[in-house]
Amino acid sequence: MTVRLTWDNTHFFADINDPRIEETAQHLKSEIAELRSICQPYAELIKATDALPEANYGDQIDNIKQIHQRRMAVVEALRNVSTFIYSRLSVDAQDTAASTWQGKLQQLGSALDQAMKPLQVFLIRVGDDFVQALVADPVMAEVAFSLRCDRKLKNQLLSVPEEQLISGLSVNGLHSWGNLYSKLAGTLQCQINGEKMGLAKASSLLSSAEPTDRKAAWQGIQGAWGEHQETVAAILNAINGWRLEETQQRAHTQKLHYLDKSCLQSRIDRDTLDALMETTYQYRSVGQRALNAMAAASGLEKMGPWDILAPAPAGAEEQAFTFEEAINLVADAFSEFDPEMGKFALMMAEKGWIDGEPTPNRSTGAYCTKFTKPREPRVFMTFTGTMNNVTTLAHELGHAWHNWVMRDMPLMVTSYPMTLAETASIFAETLVRNALLKRAETPAQKLAVRWQDVESAAAFLVNIPARYEFEKRLVEARKEGTVVPAQLRQMMGESWQKWYEDSLLEYDELFWATKLHFSISSLSFYNYPYLFGYLFSLGIYAQRDTYGEKFEALYRGILRDTGSMTAEEVVMQNLDQDIRQPEFWQASLDIVEKAVTEFEALVK
Ligand SMILES: [Zn+2]
Repeated sequence: MTVRLTWDNTHFFADINDPRIEETAQHLKSEIAELRSICQPYAELIKATDALPEANYGDQIDNIKQIHQRRMAVVEALRNVSTFIYSRLSVDAQDTAASTWQGKLQQLGSALDQAMKPLQVFLIRVGDDFVQALVADPVMAEVAFSLRCDRKLKNQLLSVPEEQLISGLSVNGLHSWGNLYSKLAGTLQCQINGEKMGLAKASSLLSSAEPTDRKAAWQGIQGAWGEHQETVAAILNAINGWRLEETQQRAHTQKLHYLDKSCLQSRIDRDTLDALMETTYQYRSVGQRALNAMAAASGLEKMGPWDILAPAPAGAEEQAFTFEEAINLVADAFSEFDPEMGKFALMMAEKGWIDGEPTPNRSTGAYCTKFTKPREPRVFMTFTGTMNNVTTLAHELGHAWHNWVMRDMPLMVTSYPMTLAETASIFAETLVRNALLKRAETPAQKLAVRWQDVESAAAFLVNIPARYEFEKRLVEARKEGTVVPAQLRQMMGESWQKWYEDSLLEYDELFWATKLHFSISSLSFYNYPYLFGYLFSLGIYAQRDTYGEKFEALYRGILRDTGSMTAEEVVMQNLDQDIRQPEFWQASLDIVEKAVTEFEALVK
């Protein structure tokens, strides 16, 4: 078979005008209305959860089981059609029919959440006895873990109408602020070297080989966002104000910290997050050394904030790849670790499950998603033949492999948090980077591969933590009142100074406006999971020699556990290590330090 670079989703829906999309949406709408009415009685039952007689458990369990199965069928169908529409929009952002569908499907998703609310709240409030009886049922066993997570929220619940009100209002309240940011980003015009251009094109210039182009692009982006700084400040105030208010409302029984929700979503303990951040802070000089070595390799005195995404300098020799070469290289690197993983990568390309053809109107960025029925992963990226493309391909195929090894499991236990998602992707990247390094013959070629290593080190060990630092300061300041642009600039400057110290020419004080991540309405503290995934996957990779031949099965086991355990449990169970202790993170950080030291030697 031959490999292909455009995806084929026609066995799901023929095209955007396929009448089955409308049929599916209508069916989902009526199913969600049904679910709403059969879940409603739980709003009453909640009031007397203590009085639920044990004799009635059986009936209730049967009823809940039926609701659960119906809900999962809705989730499956909704996910399938949403993936189809999203895939369509990724290759053509101007497809208006697809964009209309996307809005409608998002509404269906929100309606489903609201419909399930009474039962969800009931299952959080009801006694342990009932839950134990419920998850003892073979069908319901699959909800055990998610119930255990949800039930940690027991003391933070509001009444059902209040919960419904929050999720209803957040569509046009909270999330509109996030949408406003995306709208602005889509219309922004940057003035660069006398030319006007959109943000996507301007951002791509940040990785230009020409230092003056990078600086001009950075200044153009700063100028464009600078004009909207009051608006972005309003967005940040609104989003963080909403979250703080909601947290305060939920803190009726116990004290809540603003990081609690994020830790719960990441399925990690606060102790783990603290150990991760504190240990990384002790190693910040490794990230700073990476930057200094990158500057030295580029003939610069110091890196500027506009150089953070710079490509390997002219002295380094970048290899170029056709897609066929790239996929074969990735598949070979995967195979050396686990032959099934290599076969899988090839299959993705042969079946048309990867879209990378550089077409007009496509989205920027790369991602992995999946159809749910049948369970098929999809990878989106733009492939132009650079070495960066090869690593991106490996990254996304790592996510796809994660989905693939879980394909026989119930959908309910296949959703994993971002912290654990990034483990699979970065692990795959590491496999491919090592293969690239082996292939590199001259020091100049080695430098080009190692460049990616040090760029990652600088991004993960200082840039991401600086974002975390800023967000903490922002939330603290927002508690006291509205925050103005001058304060945001100052807080960002201080956050960069804490992590970068003197390793940059200047700090990026407008980063709160230019970086989308702070304006994502659905997630707070969006960034640290990437640092977690990076160090976590290096830590797991480092165990390869210890476990020898057993390791590939162990790795699959780790991936399969990511939807039904906390991160602490996954590691304790499979590797007998405690990620709440700094030692786990130190071992990974030592690996990064070694790579930086090797790069420093290459530069000399
Ligand atoms: Zn990823």
